[in-house]
Amino acid sequence: MRWKKQLLTLTPYQPGKSIESVKKQYNLDRIVKLASNENPFGCSSKVLSALENHQPGFAIYPDGYMTSLRESVASFLTVSQDEIIFGNGSDNIIQIISRSLLHPGANTVMATPSFSQYKHNAVIEGAEIREIPLLNGQHDLDKMYAAIDDQTNVVWVCSPNNPTGTYVAENELIAFLDKVPSHVLVVLDEAYYEYVFADDYYNAIELIGKYPNLIVLRTFSKIYGLASLRVGYGVGNSSIIQALEPAREPFNVNSFGQIAAQAAINDQEFVQDCKEKNKQGLNQFYDFCKQHELEYYPSQTNFILININADANQGFQYLLEKGYIVRSGKALGFPTSLRITVGSFEQNEGVLKALGEFLLEQNKAKLEN
Ligand code: PMP
Repeated sequence: MRWKKQLLTLTPYQPGKSIESVKKQYNLDRIVKLASNENPFGCSSKVLSALENHQPGFAIYPDGYMTSLRESVASFLTVSQDEIIFGNGSDNIIQIISRSLLHPGANTVMATPSFSQYKHNAVIEGAEIREIPLLNGQHDLDKMYAAIDDQTNVVWVCSPNNPTGTYVAENELIAFLDKVPSHVLVVLDEAYYEYVFADDYYNAIELIGKYPNLIVLRTFSKIYGLASLRVGYGVGNSSIIQALEPAREPFNVNSFGQIAAQAAINDQEFVQDCKEKNKQGLNQFYDFCKQHELEYYPSQTNFILININADANQGFQYLLEKGYIVRSGKALGFPTSLRITVGSFEQNEGVLKALGEFLLEQNKAKLEN
Protein backbone atom coordinates (compact mmCIF):
# COMPACT_ATOMS: atom_id res chain seq x y z
CA MET A 1 0.00 0.00 0.00
CA ARG A 2 1.10 3.55 -0.62
CA TRP A 3 1.09 4.93 2.91
CA LYS A 4 2.10 8.55 3.43
CA LYS A 5 5.81 7.97 3.89
CA GLN A 6 6.01 10.20 6.98
CA LEU A 7 3.52 7.91 8.74
CA LEU A 8 6.11 5.15 8.69
CA THR A 9 8.46 7.33 10.77
CA LEU A 10 5.94 7.71 13.61
CA THR A 11 5.00 5.58 16.59
CA PRO A 12 1.54 5.82 18.16
CA TYR A 13 1.09 8.15 21.14
CA GLN A 14 2.57 6.52 24.24
CA PRO A 15 0.12 7.06 27.09
CA GLY A 16 1.16 6.77 30.75
CA LYS A 17 1.10 3.11 31.87
CA SER A 18 -2.32 1.89 32.93
CA ILE A 19 -3.07 0.89 36.53
CA GLU A 20 -4.33 -2.54 35.47
CA SER A 21 -1.24 -3.45 33.46
CA VAL A 22 1.13 -2.44 36.27
CA LYS A 23 -0.95 -4.28 38.90
CA LYS A 24 -0.69 -7.48 36.90
CA GLN A 25 2.96 -7.14 35.93
CA TYR A 26 4.27 -6.40 39.43
CA ASN A 27 1.66 -8.24 41.44
CA LEU A 28 0.83 -5.15 43.49
CA ASP A 29 -2.61 -4.48 44.93
CA ARG A 30 -2.31 -0.71 45.28
CA ILE A 31 -1.19 1.44 42.38
CA VAL A 32 -1.21 5.21 42.26
CA LYS A 33 -1.12 6.75 38.79
CA LEU A 34 0.56 10.13 38.70
CA ALA A 35 1.51 10.01 35.03
CA SER A 36 -1.17 11.68 32.94
CA ASN A 37 -2.06 14.85 34.85
CA GLU A 38 -5.54 13.65 35.71
CA ASN A 39 -7.46 15.08 38.65
CA PRO A 40 -6.81 12.95 41.78
CA PHE A 41 -10.10 14.22 43.23
CA GLY A 42 -12.17 12.90 40.33
CA CYS A 43 -15.00 15.09 39.09
CA SER A 44 -17.78 17.18 40.61
CA SER A 45 -20.61 15.27 42.30
CA LYS A 46 -22.92 17.40 40.11
CA VAL A 47 -21.53 15.56 37.08
CA LEU A 48 -22.43 12.22 38.61
CA SER A 49 -25.99 13.30 39.37
CA ALA A 50 -26.39 14.82 35.91
CA LEU A 51 -25.35 11.51 34.35
CA GLU A 52 -27.72 9.58 36.59
CA ASN A 53 -30.61 11.87 35.76
CA HIS A 54 -30.11 12.22 31.99
CA GLN A 55 -29.08 8.89 30.56
CA PRO A 56 -28.84 9.49 26.82
CA GLY A 57 -30.06 6.63 24.64
CA PHE A 58 -27.25 4.37 23.48
CA ALA A 59 -28.91 3.93 20.10
CA ILE A 60 -29.21 7.63 19.37
CA TYR A 61 -26.40 9.73 17.89
CA PRO A 62 -25.19 12.57 20.09
CA ASP A 63 -26.27 16.15 19.40
CA GLY A 64 -23.81 17.05 16.65
CA TYR A 65 -24.04 20.75 17.48
CA MET A 66 -23.54 20.19 21.24
CA THR A 67 -26.40 22.68 21.74
CA SER A 68 -26.75 22.65 25.54
CA LEU A 69 -23.06 22.36 26.24
CA ARG A 70 -22.36 25.14 23.74
CA GLU A 71 -24.89 27.44 25.50
CA SER A 72 -23.29 26.76 28.89
CA VAL A 73 -19.69 27.22 27.75
CA ALA A 74 -20.54 30.38 25.77
CA SER A 75 -22.36 31.87 28.71
CA PHE A 76 -19.59 30.89 31.16
CA LEU A 77 -16.92 32.51 28.99
CA THR A 78 -19.16 35.34 27.79
CA VAL A 79 -18.38 34.64 24.16
CA SER A 80 -20.85 33.98 21.39
CA GLN A 81 -21.82 30.43 20.48
CA ASP A 82 -20.22 30.65 17.04
CA GLU A 83 -16.85 31.37 18.63
CA ILE A 84 -16.53 27.82 20.01
CA ILE A 85 -15.55 24.51 18.43
CA PHE A 86 -15.81 21.26 20.40
CA GLY A 87 -13.57 18.25 20.15
CA ASN A 88 -13.18 14.69 21.33
CA GLY A 89 -10.62 16.05 23.78
CA SER A 90 -8.46 19.01 22.85
CA ASP A 91 -6.27 16.44 21.05
CA ASN A 92 -9.05 16.36 18.47
CA ILE A 93 -8.96 20.15 18.03
CA ILE A 94 -5.18 19.97 17.50
CA GLN A 95 -5.87 17.40 14.81
CA ILE A 96 -8.62 19.49 13.19
CA ILE A 97 -6.37 22.57 13.10
CA SER A 98 -3.48 20.58 11.62
CA ARG A 99 -5.73 18.98 9.05
CA SER A 100 -7.10 22.38 8.06
CA LEU A 101 -3.88 24.37 7.80
CA LEU A 102 -0.85 22.10 7.46
CA HIS A 103 0.38 20.48 4.25
CA PRO A 104 3.63 19.93 2.34
CA GLY A 105 5.08 23.34 1.53
CA ALA A 106 3.68 24.96 4.69
CA ASN A 107 5.57 25.17 7.96
CA THR A 108 4.61 25.31 11.61
CA VAL A 109 6.49 26.74 14.59
CA MET A 110 6.48 25.25 18.08
CA ALA A 111 8.56 25.11 21.24
CA THR A 112 10.50 22.02 22.20
CA PRO A 113 10.03 20.18 24.49
CA SER A 114 6.32 20.81 24.46
CA PHE A 115 3.15 18.77 24.05
CA SER A 116 3.90 15.98 21.55
CA GLN A 117 0.73 16.19 19.49
CA TYR A 118 1.57 19.47 17.71
CA LYS A 119 4.57 17.84 16.06
CA HIS A 120 2.90 14.46 15.60
CA ASN A 121 0.00 15.93 13.61
CA ALA A 122 2.30 18.22 11.62
CA VAL A 123 4.38 15.21 10.58
CA ILE A 124 1.26 13.39 9.39
CA GLU A 125 0.20 16.40 7.33
CA GLY A 126 3.67 16.62 5.76
CA ALA A 127 4.39 20.18 6.93
CA GLU A 128 7.86 21.45 7.78
CA ILE A 129 8.35 21.64 11.53
CA ARG A 130 10.33 24.45 13.13
CA GLU A 131 11.11 23.60 16.74
CA ILE A 132 12.48 26.31 18.99
CA PRO A 133 14.20 25.11 22.18
CA LEU A 134 12.75 26.31 25.46
CA LEU A 135 14.79 28.92 27.29
CA ASN A 136 15.01 28.04 31.00
CA GLY A 137 11.98 25.82 30.55
CA GLN A 138 9.97 28.63 28.94
CA HIS A 139 8.85 29.47 25.41
CA ASP A 140 11.43 31.60 23.61
CA LEU A 141 8.89 33.80 21.87
CA ASP A 142 11.53 36.01 20.22
CA LYS A 143 13.10 33.04 18.46
CA MET A 144 9.67 31.61 17.68
CA TYR A 145 8.74 34.91 16.06
CA ALA A 146 11.99 34.95 14.11
CA ALA A 147 11.17 31.47 12.73
CA ILE A 148 7.91 32.67 11.14
CA ASP A 149 7.91 33.37 7.40
CA ASP A 150 5.45 33.54 4.51
CA GLN A 151 4.95 29.77 4.55
CA THR A 152 4.16 29.59 8.28
CA ASN A 153 0.54 28.63 8.85
CA VAL A 154 0.38 27.72 12.55
CA VAL A 155 2.33 28.66 15.70
CA TRP A 156 1.72 26.60 18.85
CA VAL A 157 2.08 28.20 22.28
CA CYS A 158 1.52 25.85 25.18
CA SER A 159 0.90 27.90 28.31
CA PRO A 160 1.31 26.49 30.87
CA ASN A 161 3.68 24.24 29.01
CA ASN A 162 3.65 20.47 29.19
CA PRO A 163 6.11 19.07 30.39
CA THR A 164 7.75 22.02 32.21
CA GLY A 165 4.66 23.57 33.87
CA THR A 166 5.88 27.08 33.03
CA TYR A 167 3.68 29.81 31.54
CA VAL A 168 4.03 32.78 29.21
CA ALA A 169 3.66 36.12 31.01
CA GLU A 170 1.02 38.56 29.81
CA ASN A 171 3.38 41.27 28.51
CA GLU A 172 5.40 38.69 26.53
CA LEU A 173 2.33 37.13 24.98
CA ILE A 174 0.86 40.50 23.97
CA ALA A 175 4.15 41.67 22.47
CA PHE A 176 4.26 38.41 20.48
CA LEU A 177 0.65 38.58 19.30
CA ASP A 178 1.17 42.20 18.23
CA LYS A 179 3.94 41.08 15.87
CA VAL A 180 2.72 37.77 14.43
CA PRO A 181 1.48 38.28 10.84
CA SER A 182 -2.25 37.91 10.34
CA HIS A 183 -1.93 34.89 7.99
CA VAL A 184 -0.55 32.81 10.90
CA LEU A 185 -2.94 31.07 13.30
CA VAL A 186 -1.64 31.26 16.87
CA VAL A 187 -2.86 28.29 18.91
CA LEU A 188 -2.71 28.98 22.62
CA ASP A 189 -3.08 25.62 24.35
CA GLU A 190 -4.39 26.23 27.85
CA ALA A 191 -5.11 22.67 28.94
CA TYR A 192 -3.95 23.56 32.47
CA TYR A 193 -5.38 27.08 32.58
CA GLU A 194 -7.65 26.44 35.55
CA TYR A 195 -4.65 25.62 37.77
CA VAL A 196 -2.79 28.87 37.12
CA PHE A 197 -2.15 31.17 40.08
CA ALA A 198 0.35 33.62 38.55
CA ASP A 199 -0.69 37.28 38.76
CA ASP A 200 0.78 38.12 35.36
CA TYR A 201 -1.15 35.42 33.49
CA TYR A 202 -3.20 36.91 30.65
CA ASN A 203 -6.92 36.58 30.05
CA ALA A 204 -6.91 34.63 26.80
CA ILE A 205 -10.64 34.92 26.17
CA GLU A 206 -10.40 38.72 26.22
CA LEU A 207 -7.52 38.55 23.74
CA ILE A 208 -9.65 36.74 21.19
CA GLY A 209 -11.59 39.94 20.49
CA LYS A 210 -8.37 41.79 19.77
CA TYR A 211 -6.49 39.14 17.76
CA PRO A 212 -8.54 37.53 14.97
CA ASN A 213 -5.73 35.00 14.34
CA LEU A 214 -5.81 33.53 17.88
CA ILE A 215 -7.50 30.32 19.02
CA VAL A 216 -7.45 29.18 22.64
CA LEU A 217 -7.72 25.48 23.51
CA ARG A 218 -9.15 24.23 26.78
CA THR A 219 -10.22 20.86 28.08
CA PHE A 220 -12.49 19.05 30.50
CA SER A 221 -9.81 16.38 30.99
CA LYS A 222 -7.71 18.09 33.65
CA ILE A 223 -9.20 20.08 36.55
CA TYR A 224 -12.76 19.07 35.61
CA GLY A 225 -11.76 15.42 36.02
CA LEU A 226 -13.44 14.10 32.87
CA ALA A 227 -10.47 12.71 30.94
CA SER A 228 -12.26 9.46 30.11
CA LEU A 229 -15.17 11.26 28.44
CA ARG A 230 -12.96 13.22 26.01
CA VAL A 231 -14.28 16.75 25.77
CA GLY A 232 -12.19 19.74 24.78
CA TYR A 233 -12.90 23.00 23.00
CA GLY A 234 -11.36 25.84 21.07
CA VAL A 235 -12.41 29.49 21.33
CA GLY A 236 -11.61 31.99 18.62
CA ASN A 237 -12.97 34.53 16.20
CA SER A 238 -16.10 33.15 14.48
CA SER A 239 -14.35 33.23 11.09
CA ILE A 240 -11.67 30.82 12.39
CA ILE A 241 -14.31 28.51 13.84
CA GLN A 242 -16.32 28.60 10.63
CA ALA A 243 -13.25 27.66 8.60
CA LEU A 244 -12.36 24.76 10.93
CA GLU A 245 -15.86 23.28 11.27
CA PRO A 246 -15.90 21.32 7.98
CA ALA A 247 -12.74 19.47 9.12
CA ARG A 248 -14.47 18.34 12.33
CA GLU A 249 -15.83 14.84 12.03
CA PRO A 250 -19.57 14.33 12.66
CA PHE A 251 -20.69 13.63 16.25
CA ASN A 252 -17.16 14.01 17.63
CA VAL A 253 -18.33 14.60 21.23
CA ASN A 254 -20.31 11.72 22.72
CA SER A 255 -23.58 12.25 24.59
CA PHE A 256 -22.21 11.35 28.02
CA GLY A 257 -19.35 13.77 27.54
CA GLN A 258 -21.73 16.57 26.60
CA ILE A 259 -23.92 16.05 29.68
CA ALA A 260 -20.95 15.67 32.00
CA ALA A 261 -19.05 18.69 30.67
CA GLN A 262 -22.10 20.92 30.98
CA ALA A 263 -22.62 19.94 34.61
CA ALA A 264 -18.89 20.32 35.25
CA ILE A 265 -18.60 23.88 33.96
CA ASN A 266 -21.54 24.86 36.14
CA ASP A 267 -19.71 23.77 39.30
CA GLN A 268 -16.90 26.28 39.67
CA GLU A 269 -16.77 25.67 43.41
CA PHE A 270 -15.35 22.22 42.70
CA VAL A 271 -12.79 23.78 40.35
CA GLN A 272 -11.66 26.32 42.95
CA ASP A 273 -11.38 23.63 45.60
CA CYS A 274 -9.19 21.44 43.34
CA LYS A 275 -7.07 24.44 42.38
CA GLU A 276 -6.40 25.22 46.05
CA LYS A 277 -5.62 21.60 46.94
CA ASN A 278 -3.29 21.39 43.95
CA LYS A 279 -1.43 24.48 45.11
CA GLN A 280 -0.93 22.91 48.53
CA GLY A 281 0.19 19.68 46.83
CA LEU A 282 2.77 21.55 44.78
CA ASN A 283 4.19 22.91 48.03
CA GLN A 284 4.82 19.33 49.20
CA PHE A 285 6.92 18.79 46.07
CA TYR A 286 8.74 22.13 46.43
CA ASP A 287 9.63 21.35 50.06
CA PHE A 288 10.95 17.94 49.04
CA CYS A 289 13.04 19.41 46.20
CA LYS A 290 14.53 22.05 48.49
CA GLN A 291 15.30 19.46 51.15
CA HIS A 292 17.04 17.21 48.60
CA GLU A 293 18.56 20.08 46.62
CA LEU A 294 16.83 19.04 43.41
CA GLU A 295 16.13 21.43 40.56
CA TYR A 296 12.57 21.86 39.33
CA TYR A 297 10.51 24.30 37.33
CA PRO A 298 8.00 26.21 39.45
CA SER A 299 4.71 24.90 38.10
CA GLN A 300 1.39 26.54 37.25
CA THR A 301 -0.16 23.15 36.56
CA ASN A 302 -1.05 19.90 38.30
CA PHE A 303 2.32 18.34 37.54
CA ILE A 304 5.95 19.08 38.25
CA LEU A 305 9.14 18.28 36.36
CA ILE A 306 11.91 17.39 38.79
CA ASN A 307 15.54 16.83 37.87
CA ILE A 308 16.53 13.76 39.89
CA ASN A 309 20.16 13.87 38.66
CA ALA A 310 19.92 10.24 37.64
CA ASP A 311 18.71 8.26 34.67
CA ALA A 312 15.02 9.10 34.38
CA ASN A 313 14.05 5.59 33.28
CA GLN A 314 15.77 4.15 36.32
CA GLY A 315 13.88 6.51 38.64
CA PHE A 316 10.64 5.73 36.81
CA GLN A 317 11.21 1.97 37.17
CA TYR A 318 12.05 2.26 40.89
CA LEU A 319 8.83 4.16 41.60
CA LEU A 320 6.82 1.77 39.43
CA GLU A 321 7.92 -1.18 41.50
CA LYS A 322 6.79 0.73 44.62
CA GLY A 323 3.36 1.19 43.05
CA TYR A 324 3.71 4.73 41.66
CA ILE A 325 3.32 5.33 37.94
CA VAL A 326 5.00 8.62 36.95
CA ARG A 327 6.40 9.84 33.60
CA SER A 328 10.04 9.37 32.74
CA GLY A 329 11.44 12.59 31.29
CA LYS A 330 13.45 10.57 28.77
CA ALA A 331 10.79 10.56 26.10
CA LEU A 332 9.82 14.13 26.99
CA GLY A 333 13.24 15.66 26.30
CA PHE A 334 14.49 15.68 29.90
CA PRO A 335 16.57 12.51 30.34
CA THR A 336 17.32 13.03 34.05
CA SER A 337 13.90 14.29 35.14
CA LEU A 338 10.58 12.83 36.20
CA ARG A 339 7.24 14.46 35.49
CA ILE A 340 4.93 13.72 38.38
CA THR A 341 1.25 14.61 38.57
CA VAL A 342 0.28 16.31 41.82
CA GLY A 343 -1.98 13.87 43.64
CA SER A 344 -3.87 13.97 46.92
CA PHE A 345 -1.90 14.84 50.08
CA GLU A 346 -1.37 11.14 50.87
CA GLN A 347 -0.43 10.21 47.32
CA ASN A 348 2.15 13.01 47.24
CA GLU A 349 3.57 11.90 50.58
CA GLY A 350 3.82 8.33 49.29
CA VAL A 351 5.50 9.09 45.99
CA LEU A 352 7.93 11.51 47.62
CA LYS A 353 8.85 8.95 50.28
CA ALA A 354 9.62 6.43 47.52
CA LEU A 355 11.57 9.05 45.56
CA GLY A 356 13.56 9.88 48.70
CA GLU A 357 14.49 6.20 49.01
CA PHE A 358 15.56 6.12 45.38
CA LEU A 359 17.80 9.15 45.87
CA LEU A 360 19.34 7.58 48.96
CA GLU A 361 20.15 4.41 47.05
CA GLN A 362 21.64 6.46 44.22
CA ASN A 363 23.85 8.37 46.63
CA LYS A 364 24.99 5.14 48.29
CA ALA A 365 25.84 3.66 44.90
CA LYS A 366 27.81 6.81 43.97
CA LEU A 367 29.82 6.63 47.24
CA GLU A 368 30.60 2.98 46.71
CA ASN A 369 31.93 3.59 43.20
N1 PMP B 1 -2.68 19.90 25.53
C1 PMP B 1 -1.84 19.64 26.52
C2 PMP B 1 -0.78 20.63 26.85
C3 PMP B 1 -1.94 18.44 27.24
O1 PMP B 1 -1.09 18.18 28.23
C4 PMP B 1 -2.97 17.54 26.91
C5 PMP B 1 -3.16 16.24 27.65
N2 PMP B 1 -2.08 15.51 27.95
C6 PMP B 1 -3.81 17.85 25.85
C7 PMP B 1 -3.66 19.06 25.18
C8 PMP B 1 -4.89 16.94 25.38
O2 PMP B 1 -5.87 16.80 26.33
P1 PMP B 1 -7.32 16.23 26.00
O3 PMP B 1 -7.28 15.67 24.61
O4 PMP B 1 -7.57 15.20 27.02
O5 PMP B 1 -8.24 17.40 26.09
